[in-house]
Amino acid sequence: MKVREYADVVHRILCALGKSEHLTVWHKTSSPPYPLYCLHYAAKDADAALIYVSAGIHGDEPASVQCAVRLLELLAAEQHNGVTFPFDQYNWIISPCDNPYGFERDIRENAAGLDLNRMFENPYRSTETTFIAELLLRTQELNKPKVRLALDLHEDRDSNGFYLWERRASTTLPVGNEVVQQVGQVCAINQQPQIEKHRNEKGVITLLDTVTTKGWTRGRFLAEQIQTRCLILETPTTLELETRIKAHMVAIQTAVKQAIKFQK
Ligand SMILES: [Zn+2]
Repeated sequence: MKVREYADVVHRILCALGKSEHLTVWHKTSSPPYPLYCLHYAAKDADAALIYVSAGIHGDEPASVQCAVRLLELLAAEQHNGVTFPFDQYNWIISPCDNPYGFERDIRENAAGLDLNRMFENPYRSTETTFIAELLLRTQELNKPKVRLALDLHEDRDSNGFYLWERRASTTLPVGNEVVQQVGQVCAINQQPQIEKHRNEKGVITLLDTVTTKGWTRGRFLAEQIQTRCLILETPTTLELETRIKAHMVAIQTAVKQAIKFQK
């Protein structure tokens, strides 16, 4: 049964595209009734860091999609209505809803019953993960800017607070702690010592280098194929939608600020 309309998401994407000449389509599938979109925002400075934001690969995690669409709308707007973070000083690729079938029905999987975030050993077995692999591999083409930071937005039904997975090279400085501290001003942080059999240090689960214990997730694909740092952000689904969107937004801002500072 449908509980949401993907058409509403598409409508907002197209509105944002119509508002700003900095926004263009980076990658798209026609695949009716669920065309997949990835948008590119070009900062005035072409050399500014490129950030990849993805959401909704699990359809029952709606705050992720809402946050990614809002980010697009913020980038498209001339006025940022009290938002002080300089979003427009970075280049972005944003795919706001990677599993529209699941999104409409509030289910984790796609129409074929697949958990798309376990498909990246061979992403070309489903339309949605093919789309993700293709858009990411485009960043590997000659003369294309490389992704400096990837942020994959999720939610967790079983969590009593926000937490994140930080997948990075052991030579890279961590930023997860700072992100959790800032998000802690918006909502509770999950303090359980273990989450999904991984050690949770005050809201941060660290996956160094080529850890494989999470299976073939997008994060692993990013680490192995794109060689980029990835934060997987998890808001607790039990909270109000607006609080979860805010938590994601604060996490994005903090992660960008910290990660790009360290990489310069
Ligand atoms: Zn998820």
